Amino acid sequence: MVATYDDVLAAAARLAPHAHRTPVLRSRLIDAEVGAEVLFKCENFQRMGAFKFRGAYNALAQLDTGRQRAGVIAFSSGNHAQAVALAAGLLGIPATLVMPSDAPAGKLAATKAYGGHVITYDRYADDREDICRTLAAERGLTLVPPFDHPHVIAGQGTAAKELFEHVGALDALFVPLGGGGLLAGTALATRALSPACRLYGVEPAAGDDGLRSLRQGTIVRINTPRTIADGAQTQQLGVHTFAIIRQTVDDVFTVTDAELLDSMRVVGSLMKIVAEPTGCLGLAAVRRHARRFSGQRIGVIISGGNADLTALAARP
Ligand SMILES: *Cc1c(COP(=O)(O)O)cnc(C)c1O
Repeated sequence: MVATYDDVLAAAARLAPHAHRTPVLRSRLIDAEVGAEVLFKCENFQRMGAFKFRGAYNALAQLDTGRQRAGVIAFSSGNHAQAVALAAGLLGIPATLVMPSDAPAGKLAATKAYGGHVITYDRYADDREDICRTLAAERGLTLVPPFDHPHVIAGQGTAAKELFEHVGALDALFVPLGGGGLLAGTALATRALSPACRLYGVEPAAGDDGLRSLRQGTIVRINTPRTIADGAQTQQLGVHTFAIIRQTVDDVFTVTDAELLDSMRVVGSLMKIVAEPTGCLGLAAVRRHARRFSGQRIGVIISGGNADLTALAARP
C-alpha cells in the first residue's frame, strides 16, 4: 500500500466534519525581513494544537470494528499521543499512550484529559517501540504509528491541500521534519496542486538524519537527538515516508535550537501566536536562507503550538 494524492482527498472528506480548516496568516514585518511573501499555514490552531490530529483520525477511522473495539496503542513525545487520544475519544475507541516521562507537562496532562490511558518511559534509556509491541501483543491492541503509515501520511497531507486551495501555487514550501509523515503527505499535495513548487524539509541540527538519508539515498539512523524541538526527536525516517520524500523533496535544511527560540519570539511578537519549537523549524530555515528566496511566494507550515511556556519562560 502506497499513499497517493487520492488518499489525501479521501482523508480530507473523512476529516471535514471533525478537523479545523486552519488559517493562513501573514506578517508584513516578516515579509520585509525575509524579502519575500511568506504565507503561514497555522496548524497550531488545529484541534489538540498540531497537524497530528489529521493523520491520527484518518488512520483510526479506517480500522475495522473489531480492532476499534479492542483498542489502540501509540508511542509519542507528545503530539501524536494527544492526537490519538482525541481521535480515539471521538470514535469511541479505547487508547493507551506510551509517552516519555520528560514530555512537556502540558502534553501529558492534555493526553490524559482527552481520555487516553498514559504509560511513561525513560526517553534516553528505554526502547519505546519495544514497550509498545509488548503491550500490543499482550492486550490485542492495534499500534498506531506516528508517521510511517499510508493512512497517517495521507491525513497529514490534508494541511498542505488546504494551503494550496487557500493561496494558490507557491515557489517554495518549508515543512518541519521528524519522521517524515507531514513532509511526505505535504509532498503528495504539493506535486498535485503546485507541481513546480520547491519542497523543503527542515530538521534540528542535532538530528540531521533526514538530510543524511536524502544525501546517501538510504535511511540513516541516529541516537535520539537532544534538541528543544521535541516533535522532531526521531531517530530515523520511515520506510513509507522515505520512499515518498526521496522522490519528491528538493532538499532538507537544518537549524539550531537558538534559531528556533528566535523564531518562536518572532511569531509571538509579530503574529501574536504561540508556536512550539518544532513548529518553528520552517520559519527558522526561511530566515537563515532568506537571500536565496528573495522576491518569491513562500509557504511555511507552523506544525504545532503546544509549547511548554512555563519551561521556556524559565530559560536564560
Ligand atoms: C510530529 C511533529 C512534527 C514532525 O512530524 P513528522 O510527521 O514526524 O515528520 C513536526 N511538528 C510538530 C509540532 C509535531 O508534533
